Amino acid sequence: MQHFDLLVIGAGSGGVRASRIAANLGAKVAVAEERYLGGTCVNVGCVPKKLFVYASHFSDLFSQSRGYGWSLSDSRLSWQKLRENKDREIARLNGVYGNLLDNAGVTLLQGHARLLGPKRAMVADQEVSAERIIIAVGGWPFVPEFPGREHVIDSNDVFYLDELPEEIAIVGGGYIAAEFAGIFNGLGVKTHLIYRRELFLRGFDREVREFMAEQMQAKGIELHFNADVESIALTGSGSRLVALDNGRSLEVGEIMYATGRRPLLDNLGLENTSVSLTDKGTIAVDDNFETTEPGIYAIGDVVGRAELTPVALAEGMALARNLFGEPGQKVNYDLIPTAIFTQPNVATVGLSEELARAQYDEIAVYQSNFKPMQLSLTESTERCLIKVIVDVATDTVIGCHMVGPDAGEIIQGLAVAMTAGATKADFDRTIGIHPTLAEEFVTLREAR
Ligand code: NDP
Repeated sequence: MQHFDLLVIGAGSGGVRASRIAANLGAKVAVAEERYLGGTCVNVGCVPKKLFVYASHFSDLFSQSRGYGWSLSDSRLSWQKLRENKDREIARLNGVYGNLLDNAGVTLLQGHARLLGPKRAMVADQEVSAERIIIAVGGWPFVPEFPGREHVIDSNDVFYLDELPEEIAIVGGGYIAAEFAGIFNGLGVKTHLIYRRELFLRGFDREVREFMAEQMQAKGIELHFNADVESIALTGSGSRLVALDNGRSLEVGEIMYATGRRPLLDNLGLENTSVSLTDKGTIAVDDNFETTEPGIYAIGDVVGRAELTPVALAEGMALARNLFGEPGQKVNYDLIPTAIFTQPNVATVGLSEELARAQYDEIAVYQSNFKPMQLSLTESTERCLIKVIVDVATDTVIGCHMVGPDAGEIIQGLAVAMTAGATKADFDRTIGIHPTLAEEFVTLREAR
């Protein structure tokens, strides 16, 4: 039986980072993976999604180019070509991840891992033991039960569609639903988004959510809020007949569910340990990611503190360093910047106006709503919203929000400023870069 200092289960973002850091610190490390290297992010998440977002954005660019004097005669999409090129890039990245593990001296064990006890696991048909084990198995799309559930695709399947449908319905009101609504719409598919409450993107700033809904509708996406699916039936022609609980029905080529993700704990052997779960079904861990079984740790989506790749990376890095010679590492969850890659992008760091009002005595809100210069020669009606929220007592910037082109790129820089404790006065004395969208963040004067 092979023995390791550390066995990591799952070679996704968090698992690979933890394995490499631990190996670099001198530990003998194995990582078990049953599917693909790089996990959700590389294979059925952030990376291929962003490639699809780029692809879908061209339709906007083609039509905007006319205002700048261009005339394009042939702008047809080949979905097959896009898919093949995407698959090739993902295969390349799988190889990069393999090399990263190899170069760090991490042993890759291919196959499903099942815990046999606190320090033992079966990986495929091989038993291994390890002083410590990190569970980094991630999550899997969740689709609720209802009549006709078998006719839907989820956010994994969507990356491998043989053909683009003419019309699609997407169910859910979170990141994935919003992003894929933009992707399909941009690729020329008539797109419906179905969400069970009054306004999607719950948790984001209310104005940002309302603004985003307007922008999406202006691009032709049909939003069905306060609506849920009652049943789905297959028609004779192979399309899906979707009955909604508001009495309406839709006939579409595909229906995609993006109703959240759940920890992937099937057949992991947790019953052979004293690892316990939270009431949300995630693995319960303490401040150092240790589960209720000493020596077994968990990081990333399976813990569910924030289901974001950079958070899993930070957790993997902190834990590996804490375990193998660089103690005292902590992950800062306070100011996690995040972007939704819709068209236009949404990005945010810090508090929404609603949360800021609830948590602070007095806040000031600075904002601007304008047409981006890039669109000035075009017929596009797309607008940009930026918003900065300040704690009046200390002048500290406690929230930055943007809906507009490259919002993710811009908010990342502001997240550094906020992490360093920037005040509104710091923003004001920063010199802008002209003409850019980003300079609006340092020229906001009128508070409300
Ligand atoms: P989210 O948790 O963001 O959204 C799930 C959505 O599904 C919510 O709108 C929720 O509604 C709705 N929902 C949940 N259960 C049901 C149900 N039974 N019936 C109808 N609707 C339901 O999950 P996603 O699947 O969009 O994404 C998973 C996670 O992946 C995200 O939370 C995010 O952390 C991460 N992610 C990050 C991205 C990025 O950084 N750009 C991109 C994609 C994903 P309600 O609001 O009522 O709860």
